[in-house]
Amino acid sequence: MSEVTSRRELGRGERVLPGVFRLRLPLPWPGVPHCNAWAVVAGDGFVLFDTGMHQPDSLAHLERALEMCNLRLQDARLVVCTHAHSDHYGQAATIVQRAGCELWMHPNHQHMIRMAEDPAAVLARRLEVARQSGVPEEPLRAYAAERGSRETGIAGVIEPDRDLLPGVVVATDLGEWTVHETPGHAPSHVCLFQPERRLLISGDHLLGRISLYFDYGYTPDPVGEFLSSLDVVERLGARLCLPGHGRTFTDVHAHIQGNRELVGERLSRVLAAVAGEPLTAFEVVPHVYGDSLSTENAHWLLSKILCYLTHLEVTGKARRIPGEPERWTA
Ligand SMILES: [Zn+2]
Ligand SMILES: [Zn+2]
Repeated sequence: MSEVTSRRELGRGERVLPGVFRLRLPLPWPGVPHCNAWAVVAGDGFVLFDTGMHQPDSLAHLERALEMCNLRLQDARLVVCTHAHSDHYGQAATIVQRAGCELWMHPNHQHMIRMAEDPAAVLARRLEVARQSGVPEEPLRAYAAERGSRETGIAGVIEPDRDLLPGVVVATDLGEWTVHETPGHAPSHVCLFQPERRLLISGDHLLGRISLYFDYGYTPDPVGEFLSSLDVVERLGARLCLPGHGRTFTDVHAHIQGNRELVGERLSRVLAAVAGEPLTAFEVVPHVYGDSLSTENAHWLLSKILCYLTHLEVTGKARRIPGEPERWTA
């Protein structure tokens, strides 16, 4: 059903402000039907923030969305990626080649390189982590079979022409955009801010409908990094947020606060779960997310639980009991 729906979904473009266009591009994921790329006019072309995922027909969806805004792909003067997930970076190689422009992105993108260059190794590592976290063999086999046949969503690995680090500015007709490191959701995540207009291109760091995800296994404490990144963005004082999924929103402070509260609520549920007898990460999942675990969301939910447990460990509230599988206690 969801696959049929996503096939019918088309790329769409709309102007949200003079010189700023939202390009809404379809995704094949259940519950996440599309992502946004943002085109901001710059000179005789535009800067493209994020790219959409690489899939059959994905370039046609992007071109259709651009056409609805009277823009053409070959007029992209620069591609800027908020982070190296497939839905934000997947078409970068194709676009850069078509438009003959540069790609700017944060240098901590090894998480994507590994996925794009050796998906089998990434899957093997995920299965190892899942086994270690107490996931039984049967669902693991189903997950491996389902994931093994999936595409990475990345057209090709290209290195950024320029590292997107604080101090770099992206010039557009709306003024310059400054770069702010916001790791947590992904190690390579940055937000871009236009100070005169107080516009924030937030990637997946802030979304209109609050939804948390953290890449597990690349940095010491993704949840802690995410909370610090919320402070970074709060200090900017943005008045309009252009997110990586969904519509623009203005109550940026309330969204930041909502994210903090949701993280706090998840952490206390995880802590309460391991306060009784020691549990595996897999056994913690229903305490936080009910019985919603499926092969579709298993990796997503388990990664989050492991990130919460790791944060509780780093902050001295929980500890791991080594073993096969590993268990956790308060
Ligand atoms: Zn992402
Ligand atoms: Zn995304």
